[in-house]
Amino acid sequence: MRLPVLLALLLLALPGAEALANEAPAAPKRIALRAARLIDTAHQRVIERPLVLIEGEKIVGVSGGGEAPAGMELIDLGSATLLPGFIDLHVHITGDSTSGTGNYFEDILKRSPIDDAVTAHLYAERTLHAGFTTVRNVGSAEYIDVALARAIERGRLQGPRILPSGLAIGATGGHIDGNTGFSPYLEFHNATGVADGVEAVRAKVRDNVKHGAEVIKFMAGAGVLSAEASVGAPQYTQEEMNAIVDESHRWGKRVAAHAHGAEAIRMAILAGVDSVEHASFIDDEGLRLAKQKGTWLVMDVYNDDYILAEYSRLGFPQQMIDKEKLVGRTQRENFRKAVHAGARMGFGTDAGVYPHGDNRKQFPKMVEWGMTPMQALRAATSDAAELLGWSDKVGAVEAGRYADLVAVSGDPLADIHALDAQPLFVMKGGEVVVRDAKAVAP
Ligand SMILES: [Zn+2]
Repeated sequence: MRLPVLLALLLLALPGAEALANEAPAAPKRIALRAARLIDTAHQRVIERPLVLIEGEKIVGVSGGGEAPAGMELIDLGSATLLPGFIDLHVHITGDSTSGTGNYFEDILKRSPIDDAVTAHLYAERTLHAGFTTVRNVGSAEYIDVALARAIERGRLQGPRILPSGLAIGATGGHIDGNTGFSPYLEFHNATGVADGVEAVRAKVRDNVKHGAEVIKFMAGAGVLSAEASVGAPQYTQEEMNAIVDESHRWGKRVAAHAHGAEAIRMAILAGVDSVEHASFIDDEGLRLAKQKGTWLVMDVYNDDYILAEYSRLGFPQQMIDKEKLVGRTQRENFRKAVHAGARMGFGTDAGVYPHGDNRKQFPKMVEWGMTPMQALRAATSDAAELLGWSDKVGAVEAGRYADLVAVSGDPLADIHALDAQPLFVMKGGEVVVRDAKAVAP
């Protein structure tokens, strides 16, 4: 009976044949979620006693009150407030600057991207448990963020949905050139985003896309936690920035530009970037241009507290801490100006500069520096989804979106510090990730 055996083997090799050979797949989970209120950030309203209906990984309905349909598992979150899962637009999820030995240079010489690769999943899990169900990763050693995003997508690891950038692109001697300040005879052999000149930066964009980048990150100007003297000077010419944006958009990828200095910010906006990261010294002209071109500003107004409190103890060079002192206060004042000017603002924290999982600590800072709680929540949900180009997937509790939800005790619209504690409940794609029994009692 060799022929039937051969046929069976052939059938098994065909896609879908395995499913035919096994039992029919289990019916998707059906869950009804109830809480005291739902903050519908997309429509800037509150729904009292909401009922969110979930089938499989998607939301299928949202109503105010009513009974859970028959056959649905009811999860009653009692007095908790339900929100869309949070989005952090600026993380470095594959690394943690705070986990070193306390000797900055020893760490550089003794650690490699392999160390990052084996611990990245811990940071992904911590981020998800903190209620951040989607992140944009802007700069990773090697392509660790791409691999991590794929492993999470396949269900091998727990973590947020990740929009990865792969290698950040930057100039020789600039913010991402790890050799700056070292002996010219010392060479690191890791993959690098260093590229100079219009043709080279175009090639670097293509290389990133080829290896799985879904967003392009580049350094328009100098930075804080790197060895160059300036904190904000432009590090690319206008032609180089234009080329990066043109090439990225041709491949359908959005562009995030790191820029602290006013001139670097203006140049990046003129080049057509989708978001400016940090934007610390943005001036009136920069704000006017950002509004005119619809450029998003992603200003990380929490981490200054952490850097100034901890980075001396962690062994970072004094030069970097001094640069942070130049940036911190002014960035917050300019954040307030940008809010008042009505610029488009997204929630991004630079997680990895401070410990992953503390992302929510930026919410009260944003309110302290001029946003309403609703604006701060929108920046981390519906507005963030718009910048990602994922408005049809995440950022709102609406039929058709992924069932990514967070519940907290208290009402963050009345007091943003309701977000200080870890969330009581986190769901990603219909899967319950965090469920605190105390909160579930109605
Ligand atoms: Zn960053």
